[in-house]
Amino acid sequence: MDCNKILWLAVNAKYSHTSLSVRYLREAVPGSEIMELTINHQLLAMLGEIYSAKPKVLGISCYIWNIELVKSLLKLLPAALPDTIIICGGPEVSYGVTEFMQEFPMVDYVCRGEGEEALPQLIKQLQAAGFDLSKTNGQLDMSAIPGIAWRSLTGQISEGQAVTVRDFVGQVPFAYRAAEMVDIKERILYYETSRGCPFSCAYCLSCATAGVRFLPLARVFKELDFFVAHDVRQVKFVDRTFNAKKSHFLPILQYLLKLPADCRTNFHFEVAIDYLDEEVMQVLAQLPKGRVQLEIGIQSTNPATLKAVSRVNHWQDIADHIQKIMGFHNMHLHVDLIIGLPGEGMESFHKSFNDVYALQTDMLQLGFLKFLKGAAMMELVAAYHYQYMPMAPYEVLQNDALSYGEIRWFHSFEQVFELYYNAGRCRQTANYIIKECEQEDAFAFWQKFTDWWEAKGFHKIGHSTKNLYGYLRDFALAAYDLPADLLDNLLRYDALLSDGGKIRPENLNWNRLQYQDITADFWKGAPSPVRAYLPEYEFTNWRDVNKKYHIEVFAYDMTLTSQKLTGQQTALLFDYTAEAPVCQRIELELGVDN
Ligand code: SF4
Repeated sequence: MDCNKILWLAVNAKYSHTSLSVRYLREAVPGSEIMELTINHQLLAMLGEIYSAKPKVLGISCYIWNIELVKSLLKLLPAALPDTIIICGGPEVSYGVTEFMQEFPMVDYVCRGEGEEALPQLIKQLQAAGFDLSKTNGQLDMSAIPGIAWRSLTGQISEGQAVTVRDFVGQVPFAYRAAEMVDIKERILYYETSRGCPFSCAYCLSCATAGVRFLPLARVFKELDFFVAHDVRQVKFVDRTFNAKKSHFLPILQYLLKLPADCRTNFHFEVAIDYLDEEVMQVLAQLPKGRVQLEIGIQSTNPATLKAVSRVNHWQDIADHIQKIMGFHNMHLHVDLIIGLPGEGMESFHKSFNDVYALQTDMLQLGFLKFLKGAAMMELVAAYHYQYMPMAPYEVLQNDALSYGEIRWFHSFEQVFELYYNAGRCRQTANYIIKECEQEDAFAFWQKFTDWWEAKGFHKIGHSTKNLYGYLRDFALAAYDLPADLLDNLLRYDALLSDGGKIRPENLNWNRLQYQDITADFWKGAPSPVRAYLPEYEFTNWRDVNKKYHIEVFAYDMTLTSQKLTGQQTALLFDYTAEAPVCQRIELELGVDN
């Protein structure tokens, strides 16, 4: 088959992402090729790249993050490649097909639903006609291929229907090739061992197909071995609820547990954490640090809101299980909340946020409700007076619980929260203020900070990391009755714990020079006390010491930020030789108080 003229195009959201869907199609249609671009490409540059490949058939993978760009690209394609057969597929075109094909007449076919079975059949037909547009469009009857929408000679559009592959195990290939691994092993590789979700959240499309289909474990283990053998940095499972079936997911976790100790691959799973039992917890507890990370959709803790979107959360189990796993100190936990759910006004979100913030997970992602084509959420639009963006990403603009002004404000709230909490910055300072000045009301703190941020106009401009510390200092001094030197100490401590300790904003009263002689003795004295803290330490040169370690003297004992801080001079040693900084208190003959 002259398939080198078939090109599957993915336009990824970021360079670090890879596309699973086009790789599946590359394997399903032997000889076909893939092209991966990102939404940051200039439109004309994209067109030029595609033109250079001169495909006879161009299949475009359409998702929420790229559909607006793809629509612009489609309008340019006929001029550049007038003889190319254009196929679109993916969730963004699987619903509202007639409207889409009418608006974009250059699209010859749309693949609805899963493409691994339908597209090879379509390509076979097109090949039989020599990939000649004049012999394919309208001439070939595609109604025998479920999942393909096409036009008749009269321009009549046959929608077909969204399909799933009949044989998930037999027809869904392994998507990756050894030859490409050198180029992509540092990026995020997406992988699935199951399709479908047992739950039915109204805003989600993953439940659109009935039931959950699984790959056999023997195949999964072999494919996991492939990733490990190629030293992949991260494998992100796209299984919608990884723990949907214990007899499937537990052996996978046990398999990961047995991987060699020097395996650096991190495996990311989305789980319904409330359903994990003690046996699973025991396996999770034994996993080496960094082997696994978990994403946990919570979305809201308001029972009425969850009921309205047909989501089942067992909040107490969620909180208990997260706390337990946090105690293992071996994996990154990422939780999600959604802004704009039915009945979740300011007051309700305030509570959801505080409930989830109290868990202190590594990340608390704040998303905005989206109205995806084909999702049951569409049926709730009238009941809750929703207005939402008519174009991707279809985000909520207002409803009867949140005005547009409040939704807009939440975008600033989310920006502030991303720059600080989710970037791992200033957490000690924020949490200290929340405890000492806001009676543990985290939302009140982030709300006031966002208001201050907006009043300064900071939501309209970009920010350097260095400036973030000064902003928080200025806000806290204006909003709370806290001594400036306490804030400086907290922020210095935070700065040394985030961004690899490399960001040292000048205005925080650093005192390294003041204690230089004392710390020099610590590193190089004879005898030197350093080995009591760093048994493997060997002095090489000062550049190396300064790169790997830092000693900071604080006017407070920063290891006690969970209590009210009172003056107690403390020296802390920060070690940056591991992936995350390690901080320990050291004894130094400081002589004078800071
Ligand atoms: S939101 Fe998650 S749990 Fe709910 S249906 Fe979608 S994939 Fe399943």
